[in-house]
Amino acid sequence: MDATARLIEVHDRLCRAYGCPIAYFDALDPMEELVSSLLSHRTRNADSARAFRTLRERFPDWAAVRDAPVAAVQEAITACTWPEAKAPALQRTLRAITERVGRLDISLVAEMPVPEARAWLESLPGIGPKTSAAVLSFSALRRRALPVDRHPHRVAQRLGLIPAGLAVGPAHRVLEAMLPQEWDAQQVYDHHEVLMLHGQNVCHFRAPRCAGCAVLDLCPTGQARCDGPSPS
Ligand code: SF4
Repeated sequence: MDATARLIEVHDRLCRAYGCPIAYFDALDPMEELVSSLLSHRTRNADSARAFRTLRERFPDWAAVRDAPVAAVQEAITACTWPEAKAPALQRTLRAITERVGRLDISLVAEMPVPEARAWLESLPGIGPKTSAAVLSFSALRRRALPVDRHPHRVAQRLGLIPAGLAVGPAHRVLEAMLPQEWDAQQVYDHHEVLMLHGQNVCHFRAPRCAGCAVLDLCPTGQARCDGPSPS
């Protein structure tokens, strides 16, 4: 079985387990999604959502966030991790968008082919492949892009879809190259979601529940764990 065939088999089984197609969880505009994604880095969903909500409540628009004292932005996003780093980073990104576009609006990416849109986004300070993919996939744009965050990254590594030790950033290109060309945006979104759900529910960081896993026969990590010596 080649890499894409294995990925499809994993996808199909996890889709049966978690129920595809999976509903999009939000329909933010691209600017909102970009800010939301920046706040979400290594933060629990509930906490980054609270930080995003507070930011929206305290500032009338993104220009006000950009021009506010950094301490005020930091205070508004204390619910997320590292607000002291994320506040100045967010303002840097907002200033760069203003310089390039003339206003705080990134809807121009809707007109670009996905690779061009991702390259444009990733040329902004603080934007990496996960955020560029999230802006295109999770926002109301609903484009075909695969964000790889910690759960999908861990599950893909354990399944041997990506090499052990490959960092999250470069893992984006490797996994994307394996996606079937004919998959549409919903299927690519589903792939992200099922890997994430599997990481949250079965393939836990510390104690993956391999014995009952739907993809155990495809997973070298799970087979090694199940075949290994019983704890004495
Ligand atoms: S077999 Fe184990 S390690 Fe492999 S995907 Fe399933 S839970 Fe994760």
